[in-house]
Amino acid sequence: MFLTISTTGNPERPATDLGFLLHKHPERAQTFSTSHGTAHVLYPEASPERCTAALLLEVDPVALVRRGKGKGRGGAPDSALAQYVNDRPYAASSLLAVALAKVFKTALHGVCQAMPERAAAPLPLRVEVPALPARGGADLVRALFGPLGWDTVEAEPVALDGQFPEWGASRYVRLVLEGELRLADALNHLYVLLPVLDDAKHYWVAPDEVDKLLRAGDGWLAGHPERQLITARYLSRRWGLARAATERLELVRLAEAEGLDVDDVDNAVDESTDTEERPVPLAEQRREAILAALTAAEASRVLDLGCGQGQLVQALLKDTRFTEIVGVDVSVRALTVAARRLRLDRMGERQAARVKLIQGSLAYTDKRLTGYDAAVLSEVVEHLDLPRLPALEYAVFGSARPRTVLVTTPNVEYNVRWESLPAGHVRHRDHRFEWTRKEFRGWAASVAERYGYGVGFTPVGPDDPEVGPPTQMAVFTRAQDQEPATGKTRTADPATGRTRTAAPATGKTRTADPTTAKEEQA
Ligand code: SAH
Repeated sequence: MFLTISTTGNPERPATDLGFLLHKHPERAQTFSTSHGTAHVLYPEASPERCTAALLLEVDPVALVRRGKGKGRGGAPDSALAQYVNDRPYAASSLLAVALAKVFKTALHGVCQAMPERAAAPLPLRVEVPALPARGGADLVRALFGPLGWDTVEAEPVALDGQFPEWGASRYVRLVLEGELRLADALNHLYVLLPVLDDAKHYWVAPDEVDKLLRAGDGWLAGHPERQLITARYLSRRWGLARAATERLELVRLAEAEGLDVDDVDNAVDESTDTEERPVPLAEQRREAILAALTAAEASRVLDLGCGQGQLVQALLKDTRFTEIVGVDVSVRALTVAARRLRLDRMGERQAARVKLIQGSLAYTDKRLTGYDAAVLSEVVEHLDLPRLPALEYAVFGSARPRTVLVTTPNVEYNVRWESLPAGHVRHRDHRFEWTRKEFRGWAASVAERYGYGVGFTPVGPDDPEVGPPTQMAVFTRAQDQEPATGKTRTADPATGRTRTAAPATGKTRTADPTTAKEEQA
């Protein structure tokens, strides 16, 4: 596995200054031993016009296995052979990042006693990593490097086998970065993002990793739109650490920002991941289960919270029983896609009166969400960091308080049944957690108890006798004795798009209205 760093220059500012900045002489090939093999630094070209340093890491697979961390990718999971025969020796990864930190330690810290002003100034740089394992693909590579000031971020999928183009792309990309940056910044980007993209850290993540991450991310990570993903993956999804890092980054960000900006995450699920796996796509089975549960609950005014690209909203619109449908998402991009899918701009007036898309975060209470019959959270909770979940719980069950709440989330036990999913991985790159059936039930029961709801569970998809269904759904029903009078809600004029004005907003009031009581039992 290797990477190259090149720069250009002229007789006054020769490109070979790179040797000073990296503290490695261009005319010498040097060798360093790292904990997992041998790192070589050499210069394939070194002239005043152009200078390229190459870092090449020879991994010792046996040493890796001895250290118990040799499980790269490329063999059948859990096979003994996969420990030795895997992509570790060839692909850039956390091992390369570790080598980078060891070999270019001083440069990484931006220190150069010989040429401090050169170290502090941007230079024309070109970085190439010929084989970078990229979980999340070329798009994620661009999303990660894109905001960091590079002029060019080229991520080209590498074919699985050049001789058989029909086999399609591998999980590797050839990465080329070009731009005018400080060398130290470029090295820090690589140091953090190579393992993030690989997403299979080879070493145990110790608490001081948080410090390392924040040090390497100084100046760019706090404002990075994908900071949460970067933090979570860098820390190998150790949530305690990720939370600590996120909190510290948040402080940095607040200090840096002039005002608070909206947390613009875009987690919209890519449906194709589901469709590949089975004849009736799981996403569709989920929508059917949700429609059935909404129908059983006699809901006609429905919130789709975290509606993503609007597939469920579209399905609800097709059924006239649903008189008012509101899609809510934090991501403007997802809402734009949803609006396009629904052809909101070309919709007849009557249809348009039934549907609304609004931007909002579920981590905050929102008056616009009160007074509905039902709320759906389909594959949303797992996109929130666990510490933020109580805020969502309060916003939905405490403040919006619809009669019925449906929550679906992956059942992590089922993951062993997805053949394409490497062991120990979550289903979507942005899932902050995935729950077992027991964990989900525990969470749901605690929410129900705290907010005065009853809760039942429905499997979605094939209910495997051993590991359960792929999706688990909880159906919460507001307990009768905490019921505000909502009879008026149903008579609200859908054409105005207005929510009720007369019903009490809190859950404290009891009602003697028999129609309401009947309605609530449904
Ligand atoms: N409900 C859709 C999309 C699920 S993907 C479906 O079942 O296919 C999760 C969605 O939740 C994304 O669109 C993401 O933007 C949204 N989301 C994540 N955190 C959110 C928050 N705090 N507030 C509102 N929406 C959020």
